[in-house]
Amino acid sequence: MSAQATGAFATRSKALEKIEGLSIVGGKAVGPCPKVDQFFAEDPCSGRAIGVEYHAATDADIDSAASGAWSAFASFGQSSGEERAVLLERIAQNITDLGPSLLEIAGRETGLSVTRLRAERERTTSTMLLFAHVVRQGDWVHATIDRGAPARRPAPKPDLRSMLRPLGPVAVFGASNFPLAYSTGGGDTASALAAACPVVVKGHPLHPGTGELVARAICDAVAQCSMDPGVFAYLHSGGRRERAIGARLVRHQSIRAVGFTGSVGGGMALDRMASERDDPIPVFAEMGSTNPVFICPSSMEKNAERIAERVAGSMTNAVGQMCTCPGLVFVCESDASDRFAKSLMNHLSDRMPETMLGRRVSDAFGKRLNETTRVEHVRLLGGSVPAAGSKSALRKAEGAPALFMTDLKTFIHNPTLQVETFGPSAIVVNCRGEQELRDGAAAILGSLTASIWGDEYDGRLIKNLASALEQRVGRLVFNGAPTGVEVCTSMVHGGPYPASNQPHTTAVGPRALERWRRVVCFQNAPKDLLPPELQDENPLMIRRLVDGRSTEGALDAA
Ligand code: NAP
Repeated sequence: MSAQATGAFATRSKALEKIEGLSIVGGKAVGPCPKVDQFFAEDPCSGRAIGVEYHAATDADIDSAASGAWSAFASFGQSSGEERAVLLERIAQNITDLGPSLLEIAGRETGLSVTRLRAERERTTSTMLLFAHVVRQGDWVHATIDRGAPARRPAPKPDLRSMLRPLGPVAVFGASNFPLAYSTGGGDTASALAAACPVVVKGHPLHPGTGELVARAICDAVAQCSMDPGVFAYLHSGGRRERAIGARLVRHQSIRAVGFTGSVGGGMALDRMASERDDPIPVFAEMGSTNPVFICPSSMEKNAERIAERVAGSMTNAVGQMCTCPGLVFVCESDASDRFAKSLMNHLSDRMPETMLGRRVSDAFGKRLNETTRVEHVRLLGGSVPAAGSKSALRKAEGAPALFMTDLKTFIHNPTLQVETFGPSAIVVNCRGEQELRDGAAAILGSLTASIWGDEYDGRLIKNLASALEQRVGRLVFNGAPTGVEVCTSMVHGGPYPASNQPHTTAVGPRALERWRRVVCFQNAPKDLLPPELQDENPLMIRRLVDGRSTEGALDAA
């Protein structure tokens, strides 16, 4: 039964009136098509449908978005860094100009607070501005020149010039937990546009209104910059068609790469689809992480309560719905570790259930808690595990913190304990001594982060843990909590599987642009066919490697 039929609507606001519920292709709203599924966003605080009817994209919309992106690539792929910098700055401004309406709609669709969403909007726009700076500056393309030596004997040496060139249209799938920073206008879209790749976004069904507003801001920027409207398209996705839309997009011949942020299951399903194409394409999937925390004995002895407070804060940040929330805490069993566990429990026990992003997220959280509880030798230290899901039509999406404890052997022998539980929960893994703490570091799966708490008396252990963990994670945090991802040049947001399917990349920071490019070499190319970055005169004055030496000069001066 539709939400309309049950009368289960949340109230409409002025902000909602700005939303048409239609996909945007070629710079214009498309549809509605009567034969296609309609769907509604749900207010996670009440379980009620929010009163806008969304129309899932049709096959024709998907085909036209992908083909339009391919046509636009002819010009956009050749655009200058300066032109794309202006585009990114314009998008950032347009997103900011959406003002309170964007925050209101994102808040209603996700249950996230205005304060959190304001910070996320800031992060989204600062990512756009960082990438604008990077492409304007231009060095990031790794321009490399080895001059030819036609007179060389026995064979002449060819003139060889290489640089990163754009892949083509990118399909972007965002995550539920960052409706702005990892969604329609998030890091994947920003980095792909910066890298001169048109983007087609498959909208997230948990925040379609937010997606549509941001999509319009991007399309407006494309028009303001007089670029081909195919540079960006947005496809609404929800109802019965949601899986079909993503699949058709990933299989479309015009799509040349995929950016995904979300669950391991989703990322790997898309990765399989892309690799089974007649012409397999790369998928860059940022997925699930446990973000383990390792506490060394001396530090534990002195700071058990302080560390517990920091871990509790990080674990419950945004109701545990951050990709960097810590889900595992490895400790050496002692009186101090007992104090730590007690203190952590105290911080969690006075927290009431809080609104999660949606029912599918809270249901999945409850399911994972139940799976954890069923593992032998795992003890629930605090919090509660919800009973099997109620099927009532109007149900809040909520979750309360849960803390478990187990020993290292149980952790190592039970794969279900080694993967992410998306929500406010953690497992304290008791280790018998330093060797077991090190074994724990060697046993974790790939993760975005790992944290080590230690002081000068833990010296050697810290070193051992750090060298084991470096093999497993993208970012090592010392004496701190893993949540809070700074947007800057040195940040790495990625890691070995299952944190990501491409462990050599990052989704945050300028290196994110390189995902959407591949290196192409031009041998003895006529001057007028060379991209400006590789021309003798170095018209963009970028840093290049010429005959093995780094220089910003023209070729004659090198
Ligand atoms: P999700 O359920 O995997 O959804 C992400 C997107 O992928 C949605 O558009 C979803 O649409 C689509 N999708 C999922 N499975 C699919 C399949 N089999 N075929 C086609 N499309 C599919 O993830 P989420 O709940 O939105 O996000 C939470 C997860 O993201 C958590 O695991 C969190 O840790 C992770 N995350 C990771 C990072 C990072 O940087 N590593 C950042 C943020 C979030 P439909 O399912 O509706 O079709």
